[in-house]
Amino acid sequence: MPFDVFRLREHVVQEYRDYVESFVHVLDPRIDEFVRARLAEGELWPEAALQLNPAYEPGPTLGELSASGAILADTALFFGADLRLHRHQAEALAAARRGDNYIVSTGTGSGKSLTYLVPIFDMILRDDPARHSVRALIVYPMNALINSQIEALSAFRAANWPASPVQFAQYTGQTREEVRQQLLQDPPHILLTNYVMLEYMLIRPQERALVGETTRELRFLTVDELHVYRGRQGADVAMLLRRLRQRTRRANLQCAGTSATIATGGDRATRRAEIAEVGSRLFGVQVAPENVVDETLQRVARVPVPATAEALRDAVEISPPPPNRAAVGGHPLAAWAEEIFGLTSEDGRLVRRPPISFVEGLAALAKTSDLAPERCAEQLKAVFEAGNQVALPSGEPVFAFRLHQFLASGGSVHATIEPPDWRILSMQGQVFAGGAGGPETRMLFPLAFCRECGQEYYLADLLGEEETPRLVPRSPLLNAIEEDEGQPGYFALEQDGLWSEDEDLPDNWLDPRTGSIRERYRGHIPQRVFVNPDGSLAAKGVPDAVEGWWQPRPLLLCPRCRASYDLRETSDFRKLVTLSQTGRSTATTILGAGAILGLRGDDSVPVEAQKLLSLTEIARTPRCRPGI
Ligand SMILES: [Zn+2]
Repeated sequence: MPFDVFRLREHVVQEYRDYVESFVHVLDPRIDEFVRARLAEGELWPEAALQLNPAYEPGPTLGELSASGAILADTALFFGADLRLHRHQAEALAAARRGDNYIVSTGTGSGKSLTYLVPIFDMILRDDPARHSVRALIVYPMNALINSQIEALSAFRAANWPASPVQFAQYTGQTREEVRQQLLQDPPHILLTNYVMLEYMLIRPQERALVGETTRELRFLTVDELHVYRGRQGADVAMLLRRLRQRTRRANLQCAGTSATIATGGDRATRRAEIAEVGSRLFGVQVAPENVVDETLQRVARVPVPATAEALRDAVEISPPPPNRAAVGGHPLAAWAEEIFGLTSEDGRLVRRPPISFVEGLAALAKTSDLAPERCAEQLKAVFEAGNQVALPSGEPVFAFRLHQFLASGGSVHATIEPPDWRILSMQGQVFAGGAGGPETRMLFPLAFCRECGQEYYLADLLGEEETPRLVPRSPLLNAIEEDEGQPGYFALEQDGLWSEDEDLPDNWLDPRTGSIRERYRGHIPQRVFVNPDGSLAAKGVPDAVEGWWQPRPLLLCPRCRASYDLRETSDFRKLVTLSQTGRSTATTILGAGAILGLRGDDSVPVEAQKLLSLTEIARTPRCRPGI
């Protein structure tokens, strides 16, 4: 049984769903049904988007490039003469050879690093590699990228040319002191570093041996992932690169960058012009739009996409292709899948299609072919499976696809202040409910639920001591509120004898000596109020107003289950729950464990592939520099 990523997705989503549902305890049957229906519809876990990695058009091998004189035979030797480039890699090499500044903007896994490593090696091998000095500087945004690049270069050297004279080394905060000293004594040809370390190299006198005016050897500067430098950080790095050029007295320093593909919505010319502009600003030298190298894609399928319902039906009905390239490329359902999930054309050029979910694609297939969705799903998965087992000349699978699963931490349930049988319920964050009575007369309030009994509370601020007092919705996310914005608290509808003025108060509210209520708790006795659907307080007997109880924050009593709290417990988090309180770190733990356990439970996944890569974005402040 082959590995089924769709099944893993189901498993992970189910774990998350169980977790979220575990703390949804709602007393009111209508709200409970509403919440469960929304969760069942996948409000928090939409269908995964399927992204088919398109195939790149192939270019020459390094051996062919050296035969034509474009690169040295030694350069081809280091990286492997048989290594076949993608067309965009060959285009970047041509720009490098012309001496132009260039930027490679292609998808992930498109071999961006070869687009600067090959020219750098070629340049060093042409110019006396026996002389040790820093000729090329490669700046990465993260040390993890530096480490993996060093590993990749070491692997090339070990496999192809262990005695290669070209020296490369990393120079970061992780580099040990004795290694640093060695590098200062005997500089490598290629230095891989991050922008923070580069700044130190320009400041600290002892590091001038690497990039100083005495060497004047630096000829090639690469900035990897240059799209990450934005705003203030972008300005900092741009200044740093200008200082570097000034320090090394290299007006004609050749600059190369890589960038993620950016979707600006414009056409190709606009996109290239924009990337060229970003690169020119960062490097402080002109990057021409025609030197922005983008990807050239090709179809895997060699048969036309089925154009009629009948042809599509036939494509589903014939057996799925065996796992070889010719069979996959010649299968009409593969052609259809590539078109729907992978490629579209723009001015006659193939470009990536924005991802859609597997379910959406499947629905289209079932509709057009008029076949059962189960049958379509089975055949479509078989086509993906076959395509995933066959490799292109680049080593990539023919159908390399990824699932993108978005998970939301729940939105809040909102309700209008109206009788339970017909109040409006919503998961959207809007303030006014539509419908009869005019759009602006019925306000939606976020709800929180008692953790003990599930009683719902409207989150509100009570405003206006002097004019007509009114309740306004309060976001569950905001805990601190300005004094003059009213009194934060909770409103509960009177229903099934929720409370009355002659109920007994909790024991801990009373003074044990006198038996009367402690002064500090007096303000927390539930207050009977009548509220109009627009939130304004009304007198008893006003037609649309509903009766209920107001309690200021912190909540000290649930009138339904009589759970009572001490005034010292100022946080209501332990007492009440909203759907949005999934807790990011707990959710991450649930998802991580779900993914790993799901992989472990699947015999078709080799042990070494049972891995999870997790990236967390940390808000950066100017003082926080994780690069070193
Ligand atoms: Zn309760």
